[in-house]
Amino acid sequence: MHSVPAFYLRTALELPESAYRWVWSQKRSETLLLRFRVSTWNELHRGALEPDTAHTVVGKRYESTYSIYQSFSCTVGQLEAQPMQPETSNKVTLGPLPGSEKRYLQKTRNDGAELRVPFRQVRLSDDSCFPLYDCSGPFTDPAAEIDVTQGLQQVRLSYLNQREELTEEVRSIGMPGQFKRKTLVARAGKRCTQMHYARKGEITPEMEFVALRENLEPEFVMNEVSRGRAIIPANVNHTELEPMAIGRNFLVKINANIGNSAVRSSIEDEVEKMVWATRWGADTIMDLSTGKDIHETREWIIRNSPVPVGTVPIYQALEKVDGKPEELTWEIYRDTLIEQAQQGVDYFTIHAGVLLRFVPTTAARVTGIVSRGGSIMARWMLAHHKENFLYTHWDDICEIMAAYDISFSIGDGLRPGSIADANDEAQFGELKVQGDLTRRAWEFDVQVMNEGPGHVPMNKIKENMDRQLEWCDEAPFYTLGPLTTDIAPGYDHITSAIGAAMIGWYGTAMLCYVTPKEHLGLPDKEDVRQGVVTYKIAAHAADLAKGHPGAQLRDDALSRARFEFRWKDQYNLSLDPERARSFHDETLPGEGSSVAHFCSMCGPKFCSMEITHQIRKMQSEENNDANAENSDAAAGMEQKSREFLEMGGKIYVADQKE
Ligand code: SF4
Repeated sequence: MHSVPAFYLRTALELPESAYRWVWSQKRSETLLLRFRVSTWNELHRGALEPDTAHTVVGKRYESTYSIYQSFSCTVGQLEAQPMQPETSNKVTLGPLPGSEKRYLQKTRNDGAELRVPFRQVRLSDDSCFPLYDCSGPFTDPAAEIDVTQGLQQVRLSYLNQREELTEEVRSIGMPGQFKRKTLVARAGKRCTQMHYARKGEITPEMEFVALRENLEPEFVMNEVSRGRAIIPANVNHTELEPMAIGRNFLVKINANIGNSAVRSSIEDEVEKMVWATRWGADTIMDLSTGKDIHETREWIIRNSPVPVGTVPIYQALEKVDGKPEELTWEIYRDTLIEQAQQGVDYFTIHAGVLLRFVPTTAARVTGIVSRGGSIMARWMLAHHKENFLYTHWDDICEIMAAYDISFSIGDGLRPGSIADANDEAQFGELKVQGDLTRRAWEFDVQVMNEGPGHVPMNKIKENMDRQLEWCDEAPFYTLGPLTTDIAPGYDHITSAIGAAMIGWYGTAMLCYVTPKEHLGLPDKEDVRQGVVTYKIAAHAADLAKGHPGAQLRDDALSRARFEFRWKDQYNLSLDPERARSFHDETLPGEGSSVAHFCSMCGPKFCSMEITHQIRKMQSEENNDANAENSDAAAGMEQKSREFLEMGGKIYVADQKE
């Protein structure tokens, strides 16, 4: 029993009936977030306890306290709070976004594959619906049974069961937890990559899934994958995956990095990071964990992830040699690749383009080598004075990638870490090698994307895209930002989103998010949310600028809602409905304000949109008056015409004498 001697409800955010209402409260000097079941809130609202705006805590938003998972029931009058069952059994965020419903496009193919393509349907106030691309998985589906200890439903099993190229194998490290999954691999001499099937002219279920998801023709998807201009990262052992495509002729995608650098807090916490990032729109996630239990943590994430999971395998390989780069060997690295391949990692970042001859060219840089993978390999090369073993073993790596259909994300280990180092010899030297490695991987039918910078001023961004397209034969580009200035620590989600929007417009296929904590510390959940939403803005702005079919429909729908003062529709169509609503209600709380024809920005007398409505109304009335006058005149003319004809239709008539 929690005793809350005095608290003040500040505002109630309206969520769908199936969801919960969030309210602010103040308990002595602390600020707590309490979550009430709808029925409880209704009781409160009908009772004596009204929102107390006089004691409102202004300026702090509820997102910072989301980690309190307990719900409370409240007895009006006694003002006591009692813990109830948590909203989620596994401490992960569940339930749809406000005003949204989970829907599926369903199709059974002739080969027996069951396609169930998710989308988010926003219900508008006139009861019409607006569909949105959705990568949040079953976690936003109230009908889905979620148990992170069992993992998600294996939606790709019906696809993979058809593939004669696949066979079962025994894992090098057994599967932890309670998961029951077969481990698949291509038979000796066979390939099972999406690129392999596309080159044979075969439309796989994954390609058709992507086509339905992006409203494209399946043949188009197949051709883009065949050409190497798009990838569908889909390890045959990631059976829980909802397939998606990365390519410049598709919607621009975003990636969110998760993972810890210290001791894991709990498995649910790690899964929750993935759930949280995809809830806000991350199309893929990269697990960059470097702590202990790295293998088990990754297993839990993949078994519960509806989006592709990427890793940087050199991090785990380094853990195996106690963090001493010079003790790394090809064998340790190879075993790490296979271990992760068997788990179902969908793409690997591999820094094979960092060659020995490039290392001296970084000596005069302001910030040297800023990539973790790049610096590890540079140290190994200098310690042994040998070429990068990732480069010399490239063909061996390609064989592993082809056997599980893992995509390459060829790392940019020499990316610039400051504006001063942008577009220098080391960076472009590595990019050229990335092109060579891309073409070689394609010979193994392995899908490839190339990683890109970094820190680049706006005037130097286009050159990056142009060179990548030319040197890497239009393989998808996957960039970190780029950050367009170095002077804003604490705001680098913004400095980088500017560059991300530009390079996305020029043709980058996926943008790796940057959070406000970049260069400063490990991001928390609020940072992840801000980073993801900021990058959704950059990606969507790029889609608009590229003229992606359908991209503008959402802008137009939201603009209409804004102009017509349909506040709930405006919130629900936005990237972050909860924030939009809370900002509005901060200064104009209460149900009445949700139908007001103004907000606190300009106030009721100066709301330009309301004034425009009034002008239009006046114009319409004037037009009606003018139309009425015109119709009187027309009636008079008609009368005179009739009289003329009745009088014989003669122009001159004689005077009639009495
Ligand atoms: S008051 Fe100003 S900001 Fe608010 S709706 Fe009207 S025009 Fe827009």
